[in-house]
Amino acid sequence: MKPWENNIRKVVPYVPGEQPKEKDIIKLNTNENPYPPSPKVLGVKQELERLRFYPDPVAKDLVDAIANYHGISSEQVFVGVGSDDVLAMSFLTFFNSEKPIFFPDITYSFYDVWADLYRIPYETKALNDDFQLVASDYYAANGGVIFPNPNAPTGLAADLDFVRDVLDHNQDVIVIVDEAYVDFGGESALSLIDEYENLLVVRTYSKSRSMAGMRIGYAMGNPALIKAINDVKYSFNSYTMSYPSIVMGVASIEDDVYFKEMVAKVVATREWFETELTRLGFTYPKSGANFVFASHKTVPAKEIFEAAREAKIYVRYFNKPRIDNHLRISIGTDEEMQTLVKFLEEFLNTKDN
Ligand SMILES: *Cc1c(COP(=O)(O)O)cnc(C)c1O
Repeated sequence: MKPWENNIRKVVPYVPGEQPKEKDIIKLNTNENPYPPSPKVLGVKQELERLRFYPDPVAKDLVDAIANYHGISSEQVFVGVGSDDVLAMSFLTFFNSEKPIFFPDITYSFYDVWADLYRIPYETKALNDDFQLVASDYYAANGGVIFPNPNAPTGLAADLDFVRDVLDHNQDVIVIVDEAYVDFGGESALSLIDEYENLLVVRTYSKSRSMAGMRIGYAMGNPALIKAINDVKYSFNSYTMSYPSIVMGVASIEDDVYFKEMVAKVVATREWFETELTRLGFTYPKSGANFVFASHKTVPAKEIFEAAREAKIYVRYFNKPRIDNHLRISIGTDEEMQTLVKFLEEFLNTKDN
């Protein structure tokens, strides 16, 4: 090993789901929305000339639009380049203790990566056998708590009593609730931000708003938390929010009718798909998200994953303890899900005989 190699910050990076290049595939592996963003987003034909200017460093129009949408003040909103950026900034800002931060053992697989990157000690807390978080696991002294609600990749939503329970036992640290999927069926902790000044609620445009390609995420919480995270962000890179993100982000959040319609479509498809999964011999926790976490009673998940891939249907498979017999299947259009069901039916039939 060369001496200078000792001076390199070494990390094991997060591995995102595949983004295959072929056009004729059914892509159900990264929880993208199958529908396009609001036509109002696509209709924002701001003069490209504006791109020669630096964007507004405080992204005021977007912050105000988000605050207005949620009925909170602009001092309670932080915006970032996707919720990954918001979460990475939050780890850097809020998890600065010698004590370990706590998060579930089965959860969004970026949390341990950020913790490692920033040298934040952490402890994972095992979900119970029904894949639920156990509130009492989060009672011990810690340096902060983070969990998604609904959780990923299980899709299971915890109710507000659970969130309150965790908050009541963690008044001295920051508690982050990652609500990437909340629009599809979770109960939001947003109503608690005035009551708990140590609560940060994180959202994204990537799933329910069909704008994963635009990279917009945000956090909501007490103005003191928002100031703290902004101070860190401006010490890092002032111009993170691009001009197109700002104007398109505003256009999206202002079109609530379209938003609600698309979310309802995904939820209806999910409910149909869940019944089909049951018919085909799968079990799954009831999903509050835009994906289902399914396991077949006889056929191993890995086999189904590989066969589906051959048939150009991409779903997500995690080769990890406790979940290596599950598939995380994003909800696509009705037509895509029908094709998947037909594939599963035929594939499983070849197994039974
Ligand atoms: C998708 C996802 C994110 C990241 O979303 P972006 O806004 O696209 O960065 C964060 N947390 C969870 C739990 C997610 O599933």
